[in-house]
Amino acid sequence: MLKIIIILMFILMKGFEFTVERVNHICQGKELPENVKDVYDADEYDKWRNYENDSEKFSIISEVVSIAFSLILLVTNAYAWMFRMLPGFNEYIQSLIVILALSVMTTIISVPFKYYDTFVIEEKYGMNKTTRTTFWLDVLKEFIISIIIVFLFTAIVMFLFDTFGNTAIILATVVMLVISLVLALIIIPLMWIFNKFTPLEDGELKDKLIGLCEKYGLKVKKIVVKDASRRTTKSNAFCTGLGKFKTISLDDNLVNNFEDDEIVAVFAHEFAHARYKHIIKSLPFSLFRTLITFAVLGLLLNYSGLCTAFGFDGVNYFFALQLLSIISWPLTKLLDIVSNYISRKHEYQADAFAAKEGYGDKLIAALKRLSKEALSDINPHPVKVVLDYSHPTLSQRITAIEGI
Ligand SMILES: [Zn+2]
Repeated sequence: MLKIIIILMFILMKGFEFTVERVNHICQGKELPENVKDVYDADEYDKWRNYENDSEKFSIISEVVSIAFSLILLVTNAYAWMFRMLPGFNEYIQSLIVILALSVMTTIISVPFKYYDTFVIEEKYGMNKTTRTTFWLDVLKEFIISIIIVFLFTAIVMFLFDTFGNTAIILATVVMLVISLVLALIIIPLMWIFNKFTPLEDGELKDKLIGLCEKYGLKVKKIVVKDASRRTTKSNAFCTGLGKFKTISLDDNLVNNFEDDEIVAVFAHEFAHARYKHIIKSLPFSLFRTLITFAVLGLLLNYSGLCTAFGFDGVNYFFALQLLSIISWPLTKLLDIVSNYISRKHEYQADAFAAKEGYGDKLIAALKRLSKEALSDINPHPVKVVLDYSHPTLSQRITAIEGI
């Protein structure tokens, strides 16, 4: 009975996500908001619609395949079977081998889709720049990194809950906090695995950016340029790090193709994230979120019936974590809604800063161009925005900037 309930929850969860995507897709046919009508001209708008349709068909197939794979694993008690195939090893080694086996399977299933998406869809619309070599190296790197992350996370949870019982709820939260702070500091060196970051060249642009930093007495350790053009024509920018170690990264696509003032506008937005300490401000909620998630895990581990319903002899930490993602899903969705709301507030604040610095028009121009070049969805369904959008829609951002 428990097994049926959990499988139904899984179907409900995937069904919900699937429905939101389809509703969002249908909604794209409706009229665009006035202030974003000029993002695409008639030809480009057709191109965008075709791109959306191609992506839509493709994502339905890939989602169905991945849902079917997960269902087969759950229905056939495959997790318990895999662990039983490894007698004589302790649970850490067993988990590592199972994670490895599952990663091999999911990579084999997902790579053809990823390949098609990159070299057929993105290529057709002129956005792909990835070579076959870069693609396969990325697959290999992602494969290794995901195994390391999943295994370390499982091992930490196993060790803490095994050793400290329910006190581990607090301890695991603290460990995750420390890990996320360390990650915020070393994210750029870590990202070197996938990209190269070079210091921004001296010149007028750099002087303007430094000028902005000096005006507010804010220390930005580095302004770097990321070689995004090795993979895509899309561009992005981000701010990371804490205290004196803040780094702002601009994509080379942005630096090489946009007007100086548009780049300064985008930089001012990222700079505002640093100035208003948005990373620190979002910490309390993410800490609360982690605590709640571990509390649910604690409850789940106290009740071995959940694991035995899927063929295990008792509690299995790795499988409990798989169940956690299904059982805590409604809660996760609610927490997502709140954290996306906080994030969208921060985005508005960062846009407002750039506008007050006198870059409002340039920021609007840059945002429009960024959306156009990425063939972004400029007309998402409001439900999709509330559930999944960490940024306001382009139209919402323009309205807010113009109101300053
Ligand atoms: Zn931002």
